[in-house]
Amino acid sequence: MSEFSKKFKEEKRYKDEDLFKVVDSTLDSRTYLNLIQVARRLNIKEYLGAISSGKEAKIYPAKTLDDKYYAVKIYYTSTAQSKRAIKRYTSGDIRFEDIKVTNTRQLISTWAKKEFKNLSRLYEAGTRVPKPILVYENILVMEFIGENGIRAPLLKEIGSEEITQELYEDLIQQIEIMVKKAKLVHGDLSEYNVMVHEGKCYIIDVSQALPVDHENAVMLLKRDLDNINRFFEDRGINIRSTKDLLIELGF
Ligand code: ATP
Ligand code: MN
Repeated sequence: MSEFSKKFKEEKRYKDEDLFKVVDSTLDSRTYLNLIQVARRLNIKEYLGAISSGKEAKIYPAKTLDDKYYAVKIYYTSTAQSKRAIKRYTSGDIRFEDIKVTNTRQLISTWAKKEFKNLSRLYEAGTRVPKPILVYENILVMEFIGENGIRAPLLKEIGSEEITQELYEDLIQQIEIMVKKAKLVHGDLSEYNVMVHEGKCYIIDVSQALPVDHENAVMLLKRDLDNINRFFEDRGINIRSTKDLLIELGF
């Protein structure tokens, strides 16, 4: 048997039901079908247990045939809050004005698509974010930040000895690239939406990011900077004032 057909045989042994090591009762059948489609496209052999469940999404590590990992974000609910948030954030944003949201499923896909677009724009501008891989209905696949399926810690979770002046400068630099090059404001930045991997900051959770010319951009950027400054200042780091940073960022 040739190497190729041997490998093909081996891959064939992975069946759809083997994809899910843990059956998650919160996911609907359409989502399961979507996950199977995504697995075929990306050679995923296994979805592992969720690493996090927020209000609107869950994140799962997915293992590929060659034992690499992706992070899979599944948007699973549409709370009244998320509907309001979508209205608020997409109105006045010309990129999304032509998207008419008619039903819940569409609304959730719009949210996933928005995060994918923001992630792509940030990644292409050189911001340290997980590399976007694919969006399919309510599923977003991105680079896994961590090692062997174990996620990296959030800024909130790292030990005090790791919270250094350099780490602060690194994060401020990422915010600068985000605002000046990608021309986006995160809008929900805090120690909960920054991961720290190999001493570097990765900005995550960008579904609500907005263009810098949006009417709410200044207010949101100020809040983002205040959150980051408060976190580092409380831990003894010399910070640059939000006022100075806003000026430097062109606001
Ligand atoms: P929230 O908990 O704020 O509602 P969310 O549901 O919007 O969050 P994210 O903040 O994007 O989702 O991700 C949730 C968690 O999943 C993160 O705190 C992080 O621990 C983990 N995570 C997110 N993206 C990745 C990634 N690319 N690689 C590894 N882990 C990730
Ligand atoms: Mn988050």
